[in-house]
Amino acid sequence: MTLIPTFDGHNDTLVEFCDPADGEGRSFFERSESGHLDLPRAREGGLIGGIFAIFTPPASGSPERDREYGLTVTEDGYELKARSAVEPEYSRQFVDRVLDFAYDLERQAKGEIAPVRGYQDLERNLGEGVFSMVLHLEGVSAIQEDLGNLEEYYGKGIRSIGVVWSRPNVFGYGVPFRFPHSPDTGPGLTRAGQELVKGCNRLGIVIDLAHINEKGFWGVAELSDAPLVVSHSGVHAICASTRNLTDKQLDAVGESKGLMGIMFAPGMTREDGDRDGDVPISGIVRHIDYVAERIGIDHVALGSDFDGAQMPTELSDVTHLPRLIQALRDSGYDDASLEKITYGNWFRVLRETWKG
Ligand SMILES: [Zn+2]
Repeated sequence: MTLIPTFDGHNDTLVEFCDPADGEGRSFFERSESGHLDLPRAREGGLIGGIFAIFTPPASGSPERDREYGLTVTEDGYELKARSAVEPEYSRQFVDRVLDFAYDLERQAKGEIAPVRGYQDLERNLGEGVFSMVLHLEGVSAIQEDLGNLEEYYGKGIRSIGVVWSRPNVFGYGVPFRFPHSPDTGPGLTRAGQELVKGCNRLGIVIDLAHINEKGFWGVAELSDAPLVVSHSGVHAICASTRNLTDKQLDAVGESKGLMGIMFAPGMTREDGDRDGDVPISGIVRHIDYVAERIGIDHVALGSDFDGAQMPTELSDVTHLPRLIQALRDSGYDDASLEKITYGNWFRVLRETWKG
């Protein structure tokens, strides 16, 4: 079977390597059995690159480092206690460390991987078989409220930002993790958040709407002149998590000619919201079908969340991407449609958003 190239919209692999609590003993250049993604396994699964998130973990010693901290099981789902903002200076230090790590990887890779600064890089890397790394801030706690260092981070290679992770910052409010629950969980963008949208439009930085609450989503939709991008989420009508998009939000993504990256995590795809991974891949296909039917095949893509969330057993790491592609094929997608889902739509949206 020939491998269909895949460009994935979201992983946490860089953070996994840089956070002392995780990633111990792994090298990006060596095949490992732990975690979800490294270069040898990416090659094996047909992954040509992706958007590499830089998420600032809660400071060491914070109870929020435990992902299940403040978990309440409810009659039909769960609620996690709201997460608190992280300290900007601590976030800047962490982000800078991850950026140094990413550029170290590039140096060690001897041409095998390259951070992407513009659309030409993506095309060239694909043609030459170089692995593409797009650098993304997942929550912009490192950005100053007056945007004083936004250009500096652009200069350091950041080409995509999520306004918030599932916690607040000076720009907006993330959704707390709840099921079943509407994504409408609090106030919208702050004044600084509105300026951030304009700043990103001006520089040509992707604004990622994963993790933002519903009012924040509409705030960006109203202001932004770029296609709306949701890098890793699911369909709320199928899995009623706060992290997933309502039909109205999906329609707005389609109308803006944007895209929705479907996440692989069972907790975001299963109808019952359970995180248990013993579920067939068809659960992910169902979300892709839904988005394709509702807003069109040009607006659905992949956003695995490798190394950031639990994966379904059948898709336990990146080497199993061909299983997902086969499941899509079995569901009726032809080669042209598959290529849109696996990389074409991401390439188009990045080309239309980036300046150069
Ligand atoms: Zn995330």
